Amino acid sequence: MDRRSLFETGATLGLGALAGCALPGVAAHAVKTPFAVPATVIPIVGSDAMFPVRRIYCIGRNYAAHAREMGSDPTREPPFFFQKPTDAIQNVAPGTVADHPYPTLTKNYHYEVELVAALGKGGRSIPMASALDHVYGYALGLDMTRRDLQRGMGDQKKPWEIGKSFDKSAPIGPLHPVSQTGHFGKGAIWLQVNGAVKQNANLNQMIWNVAEQISKLSEAFELMPGDIIYSGTPENVGPVVRGDVILCHIDGLPDLSVKIV
Ligand code: MN
Repeated sequence: MDRRSLFETGATLGLGALAGCALPGVAAHAVKTPFAVPATVIPIVGSDAMFPVRRIYCIGRNYAAHAREMGSDPTREPPFFFQKPTDAIQNVAPGTVADHPYPTLTKNYHYEVELVAALGKGGRSIPMASALDHVYGYALGLDMTRRDLQRGMGDQKKPWEIGKSFDKSAPIGPLHPVSQTGHFGKGAIWLQVNGAVKQNANLNQMIWNVAEQISKLSEAFELMPGDIIYSGTPENVGPVVRGDVILCHIDGLPDLSVKIV
């Protein structure tokens, strides 16, 4: 196989991995590479276009009761952020129960149900008053966490990347354009495991709302279209094991469900 046909094979495989979706712009790029790396995209409801993911930001301890259960004082802490790699995304179609692999290395694998805001516009030092203008849409997501590894690294004052930023650690439903749903300042957010309610809160209990998250985040990083923000989880995070089925809900979005395998 010569280099040219090797490249073409790789490109075909890479695009094929995107499950046959129409991907305007992906196939057309002209940069020569020795192999293909699939783009990370999220389906957009009501459109045949896909949302291209640039970065995944996550906010930590953004509901007071969850901050307390994680051992911190929510009244004194400014918001803090971490990232997951973009290919941590696991797209989950509404009405399906997607198989989600129990990851390696952990014995304490936790769910965290979260509202996800996706940006269509970027900027630096974005004022709070105009921050929501940067939102393209919203989705329901899970910030899956290897809690034992996260805590272990934290105890050693090391980065807790290994607890948060692993393969498929970011299951997510399709993106709903804000033009169709409006913004999500309040509404029920809950999570069940095998039919039993585990997390149950309201989006209006966030310590830092989505506008504040965008504004604060943009002080630290230049935000860009394609960035998405996991906005934090309410209290009562907990473990799952193989065979468990997680069902997540946010008022105004379709439910999201995965089975741990
Ligand atoms: Mn989280």
